[in-house]
Amino acid sequence: MNFAIEVHPHEDETLTSWVIRNAIANGSDPRSFAIAAFKKDSTWYRDIDRYIPYEKVVQLSLLCSLSQEGIRALTLESLIQNLSHKTHKDNPYSKWQLITPIGLKGAIRTNGFYFCPKCLVMDDAYLKKQWKLAWVVACPIHKNLLLLSCENCGQVFSPHKITYENPYLCYCTNCGFNLSASTTEYVNQEVLVFQEQLSQVAFKDDFMEIDFPLIENNRKDLFLTLTLFLSLFVHMNQKEKFAGIFKYLNMNDKHAFRTSNNTTFARMHIKDKEHLLFIISNLFKLSLNEIVTLLRDSEMAQNGFKRTFRNLSPTAEYIFNRLDTKKIFKPSRSLSREIVPKSKEEVERLFDEIREYIKI
Ligand SMILES: [Zn+2]
Ligand SMILES: [Zn+2]
Repeated sequence: MNFAIEVHPHEDETLTSWVIRNAIANGSDPRSFAIAAFKKDSTWYRDIDRYIPYEKVVQLSLLCSLSQEGIRALTLESLIQNLSHKTHKDNPYSKWQLITPIGLKGAIRTNGFYFCPKCLVMDDAYLKKQWKLAWVVACPIHKNLLLLSCENCGQVFSPHKITYENPYLCYCTNCGFNLSASTTEYVNQEVLVFQEQLSQVAFKDDFMEIDFPLIENNRKDLFLTLTLFLSLFVHMNQKEKFAGIFKYLNMNDKHAFRTSNNTTFARMHIKDKEHLLFIISNLFKLSLNEIVTLLRDSEMAQNGFKRTFRNLSPTAEYIFNRLDTKKIFKPSRSLSREIVPKSKEEVERLFDEIREYIKI
């Protein structure tokens, strides 16, 4: 089988999306098309947007005009070295921090592909790589929070199951509900700016000028530090003694988490993720030494900070080394600087700066 008709991938399109669009263009349904292309049913149910085995890349490249690199570029494989301590030698199917896992029970996905309902009805709709990144909670074009499932029947968004008879991404494959009519909520503007800054850093070669307090100004330091703080703040949210930190970061209302606190950030409810990103965006307005003071004032000791993390980022290591080895009460040396929300003008200016990167 060769592709009789071949659609060209969008720059930020996922491999699943490109296979689906080719299947439909060739008068087939995605599953049959994928079985013919990969010679194996199970490949289609794996998370091929994250990683695709070498032999499958070779098979696919023989059927279409894309090079092996061109096929790999539709996956998130190149990101992983920037997001975690993992390398290509590690098991590619193990958990990747900051990439939303699809979660499988048999052939049914239980989690996993966020979408913007309004993007699905645009001409030439496709699935975007950014929707797989755990910190991406909203669509930068439509500014609404992303959705994970059909509001009518509750099934997780399952575009891999669309058929030739009903080939539109915007219809639920279980009940036929028009997903573009889903109820949506606007995202917090500061979170949207923070999210887009993180995506720029992840995808672009040039490390954007961002005021994140880092020891090493590189991606790995940023994302590993982010991962640690996301996890730390879920933990701290449960404990009364850390209330001062939340208050200092302008988070006066105790957030009631919708997901249990032992789940990873990538699997959390979108409102929980939005809340945590807002906290971190406020935290990253501080200098490193102010962050150390804030933690020490709350009697955060080294063990409590490191928790189960085996490896620390250079920035986390810097903070860790300035915390006490065990809990000792320290008289409060409260910080003098007040964190204030960004003004509307400032948020709009920041959004203008990132707008040129957003494909509309
Ligand atoms: Zn959108
Ligand atoms: Zn449905």
